[in-house]
Amino acid sequence: METREYTTDVLIIGGGTAGTMAAIKAKQANPELQVLVLDKADIRRSGAISMGMDGLNNAVIPGKATPEEYTLEITESNDGIIDQRAVYRQASECFGIVQELDSWGVDFEKDETGYYNVHRVHRKGRYVLPMPKASDLKVILAKKVKQMRCRVVNRVMATRLLTKGNQVIGALGLDVRTGDFVIVRAKAVVMTAGAAGRMGLTDSGYLYSTYENPTNSGEGFAMAYHAGAELTGIECYQINPTMKDYNGPACAYVAGPFGGYTANSKGERVTGCDYWSGELIMNMWKLKNKGEWPLYLKLTHLEDNVISEIESILHNNERPSRDRFHEGRGKNYRTDMVELNFSEVGLCSGHSASGVLVNHEAETSMAGLYAAGDMACVPHQYLLGALTFGKIAGTNAAAFAAGQPEYEPDPAQIEAERERLLQPLSRPDGVPHQQVEYKIRRIVTDYLLPPKTLTKLDIALEKIEHFRKVDLQLLGARDPHELGRAMEIHSIVDCAEMMAKASMFRKESRWGFYHYFLDYPERDDANWLKRVIVRKGDSGAMELYTKELPPYILTDADRETALEDRQGEVNTHEHVG
Ligand SMILES: Cc1cc2nc3c(=O)[nH]c(=O)nc-3n(C[C@H](O)[C@H](O)[C@H](O)COP(=O)(O)OP(=O)(O)OC[C@H]3O[C@@H](n4cnc5c(N)ncnc54)[C@H](O)[C@@H]3O)c2cc1C
Repeated sequence: METREYTTDVLIIGGGTAGTMAAIKAKQANPELQVLVLDKADIRRSGAISMGMDGLNNAVIPGKATPEEYTLEITESNDGIIDQRAVYRQASECFGIVQELDSWGVDFEKDETGYYNVHRVHRKGRYVLPMPKASDLKVILAKKVKQMRCRVVNRVMATRLLTKGNQVIGALGLDVRTGDFVIVRAKAVVMTAGAAGRMGLTDSGYLYSTYENPTNSGEGFAMAYHAGAELTGIECYQINPTMKDYNGPACAYVAGPFGGYTANSKGERVTGCDYWSGELIMNMWKLKNKGEWPLYLKLTHLEDNVISEIESILHNNERPSRDRFHEGRGKNYRTDMVELNFSEVGLCSGHSASGVLVNHEAETSMAGLYAAGDMACVPHQYLLGALTFGKIAGTNAAAFAAGQPEYEPDPAQIEAERERLLQPLSRPDGVPHQQVEYKIRRIVTDYLLPPKTLTKLDIALEKIEHFRKVDLQLLGARDPHELGRAMEIHSIVDCAEMMAKASMFRKESRWGFYHYFLDYPERDDANWLKRVIVRKGDSGAMELYTKELPPYILTDADRETALEDRQGEVNTHEHVG
């Protein structure tokens, strides 16, 4: 295994949505600094957006919504477990990002006056800003990174952070093409490695047919954990409504404002609000248990020209394969409803609330370490939150790096990681990564999927321990690609253990289906309106403890007004379950 070394001021791990923006903003903040982006794929097409997106799910556009309204909406959606300062900051600064993207050539839906046209999908307020022709979003971001003269190293998978006490001073990784061992010294590190998307098994059975970008296998969570950073919301899983057998959303977000909705087999509307939440998934799960299954996305009642418009957004922009998927099955929105299912379980802050603990400055609990996007806990932040917090993280990392000396990494950390990476290569005839990955993901699906019970979680932990002792020791790799896949399994099992322990620790139910715990079926604000923190303790064992929420910045009066308004809104919808 050859060794390759880099030295930089700011290191960005993961060049997806948040990472590209972090790199651009770090360089803008201080053009003298060296900014290096590592990505295990290629930043032109990597990450959740890959091409583009159908729309921004949470744009707070002046004149259409206020940061206060949005912050209260998310406080409610996330059952109160929220750092309002962070969500408020996202809401206050995201319009600047929209305008900047617009100036870079990203297409947004506008009204007849040329102003941004937002639609309502959330329970209250209008935040969905369609991007009908934004299939080039990722390419635009990647080009900007190059224009800003950031250094990009593709095909390098970061596997561990380098630390000096409670400070992060670089990272280690693997070139998944050449097999080189990579050492990066950095004065500040921004982690933007996305969701933990390969946790549960997919409904199609294919390992990589996940809702999330399948290369996001939880290294961000695992690396932060092993470095000693605090993580939170890990018990608040992500489970999304998807199209049956297709690894993408049904897109009620897109179709909803045009009149589409979630329906039962008779075509009757079954959800009051298609905003994705644990409550929505709970309602869907209850219908499934009553035998009212499958559910469908219903568009058949819409005019032909409306359906064509929906198709032009859904099929040309985010996922061109969707067109071929329906066509291959002989289905058409005009005559057929689209069968839905649940996605596999995973961890993601963008759609849910799990991630590395960050504050409104994107600072983690470790000096020199910043995090943004799907792996940083700012609940329900989606695409625009990743961009906004990418900006905050990049800017702050640049300021931090400017005042730092260059530290020499600890040789023991480097050697330990080299040794860990060499293990699967020493077993070229070992068990192939696909089989080992299937096994851990089956444990996740069978024992961690809600409804959670102490019995199931106990079994999960027993099996995870056995998996570490036995299966990981049999895992083999014959080349750099397989080695990358093997190391991803290490991240998956770390995340699985965190999921089991955090779920067991929170002795109540919260977030609808995401943390539906049959041994403690009620929400218990008196004891649990706080964070559960997961951290690797000094002894090397996983520690769990609670932390109070940062004080809300919006007043009780703001909240009561919003709740009264919400009551009016809720009563206008038919709720299920
Ligand atoms: C199917 C789908 C549809 C969505 N639709 C919408 C929508 O319509 N509107 C909306 O607002 N939001 C939407 N979202 C959410 C939004 O896209 C994400 O929240 C956002 O893009 C996350 O950005 P990120 O930078 O955190 O992660 P990503 O953009 O996924 O970037 C993570 C990057 O890290 C890299 N990486 C991972 N591990 C490593 C490692 N170990 N070393 C180096 N690099 C690594 C990956 O290759 C990737 O480039 C959707 C998400 C999905 C999955």
